[in-house]
Amino acid sequence: MERIQGIAVSPGIVIGPAFVVGEAEKHVPHRTVPERERAAEVVRFDDAVAAALDELQGLRDQTAAGLGDEAAKIFEFHIGLLRDPSLLEPIRIRIREDGLNAERSAANRFEELAAQFEGLGSDVFRQKANDVVDLERRVLDKLMGESSSRLAKLRDPAVLIGHELTPSEAAAIDRHRILAFATDLGGRTSHTSIVARALDLPAVVGCGRLSERVEDGDLVIVDGDSGTVILRPDADTVQSHRELDRRHRQYRASLRADASMVSETLDGTAVALLGNIEFPEEIPAVLANGGAGVGLYRTEFLFLTSPTEPTEEDHYEAYRRAMELLDGRPLTVRTLDLGADKYTQRRAEEPERNPFLGLRSIRYCLHHLPLFKTQLRAILRASALGPLKVMFPLISNVMELRQARMILNDVIEELEEENLPFRADLPVGMMIEVPSAALMSKTFAREVSFFSIGTNDLIQYTLAVDRGNERVAGLYSGANPAVLQLIKSVVRSGRRESIDVSICGELAGEALYTMLLLGMGVRTFSMAPGQIPEIKRIIRQVDLAQCERLARRVGSYESDRQVLNALRDELRRIAPDSTGGWTGE
Ligand code: PEP
Ligand code: MG
Repeated sequence: MERIQGIAVSPGIVIGPAFVVGEAEKHVPHRTVPERERAAEVVRFDDAVAAALDELQGLRDQTAAGLGDEAAKIFEFHIGLLRDPSLLEPIRIRIREDGLNAERSAANRFEELAAQFEGLGSDVFRQKANDVVDLERRVLDKLMGESSSRLAKLRDPAVLIGHELTPSEAAAIDRHRILAFATDLGGRTSHTSIVARALDLPAVVGCGRLSERVEDGDLVIVDGDSGTVILRPDADTVQSHRELDRRHRQYRASLRADASMVSETLDGTAVALLGNIEFPEEIPAVLANGGAGVGLYRTEFLFLTSPTEPTEEDHYEAYRRAMELLDGRPLTVRTLDLGADKYTQRRAEEPERNPFLGLRSIRYCLHHLPLFKTQLRAILRASALGPLKVMFPLISNVMELRQARMILNDVIEELEEENLPFRADLPVGMMIEVPSAALMSKTFAREVSFFSIGTNDLIQYTLAVDRGNERVAGLYSGANPAVLQLIKSVVRSGRRESIDVSICGELAGEALYTMLLLGMGVRTFSMAPGQIPEIKRIIRQVDLAQCERLARRVGSYESDRQVLNALRDELRRIAPDSTGGWTGE
């Protein structure tokens, strides 16, 4: 039995067999292929070899043109090896006869060959051994590059263990076959974590070298409440976690039972509780959990789940479907927030050195106008169907906002010319996710209909802490007084101009912060659907004056420790069963 401590990102406890989608660099999965699937596995291997050969020929030609034939010889050697039946045939035989999966069979054979070269003693041959390792990586990359396609082959429900899932891999997860997931990398607000909460799957991230220590089929426990992953647990541990799981379910069921109650404080202050969604299919979960609409639709997931750019009709169909499912309730559509961790750098034309400070989000859209306009047309057309709002992410200066609005106006003119219906008074808002926007919120408040504070990015940029880096996760805190001061000033600016200010970052769904945010004046919260019931219960148990007192007291603190202690004490008094969100903080 081995216990690994990671970061708890989505609650719940699951005990089940592991299914490893390791990073090609590090982990070579080992699995037995059933007899009827072996022929297809050989084809998969041959396809990978063919793709690797293609790539090598391209590299050879490119090198020959740039550096001359001599330099290109290295690739000749690789190509020759990869065409050599004495290398390939034993791999096919291992797959066909022993049922060993393609990755493992190939890795074994390449390792054998590298050892042979190494054993020959001379430097020349040792260099050849390196070439073999290099070639092995290339073939394995081709085999494992698309872990999502391996995922598609998963039959029985399992716990997904990975190095790091890309958002598109996470988005492709079938919630009926994946019981929970745990990854080596990641933080509380990395997009895989957000997807885990959206899918209501227990998850732990930032587990170090977890994926190297697990094999397919190992029994694992993922405890999304405490952030632990237990490998090959003994019978007593399985038993105690079953009991914990039972208690957890009971608590969640009691919360769900109250989900339809009105969302207001003891003194009758109404608070809007909305859901964050990545796909329209999550809307029934928002409503079942007592949400009054959608406060953040992360439309970039539409882009990420498809290999091609979505057309105007793809966008429109998604928004139309969302409006239909909401049946008259409000929908806030955020324009594409691509880039950084939500745009695989593999797909970017030119990988950026610092993608979080690069051409992401609204900046990306303003540089790719046809893509932006396509989406805006679809949003406008869908606005004719019901109470839809639009908001721009990551605005960092006023010109950017004005430019985005100008493009929206161009699209409006186009629709008018085409006689297509849209809502003339469409509310246009912006997200506050960058300190510069928070500091200039007084100016911005005069230019938009609403603010939505994206605390995930706001914390990251205020504290200079990568939201997805487990090594600095301890520094990432919404309780940092600098972050709280920015939130307070944004709420104040919004109030002064009588515009709505909502919170749609993960902080909105953490019970620990509910009273503080209420006390600061926030009246709209948007969060993962599964978190709505707990936040509603807290809202129904507090008095606004009590929250305002807490906010004043916390406002004078200098460290996040002090803030957290105060919030914890207060929460314990009103909701002793709550863990304060999934983090246990
Ligand atoms: C945020 O940054 O808080 C936010 C809601 O946007 P996302 O998590 O999608 O970046
Ligand atoms: Mg954001």
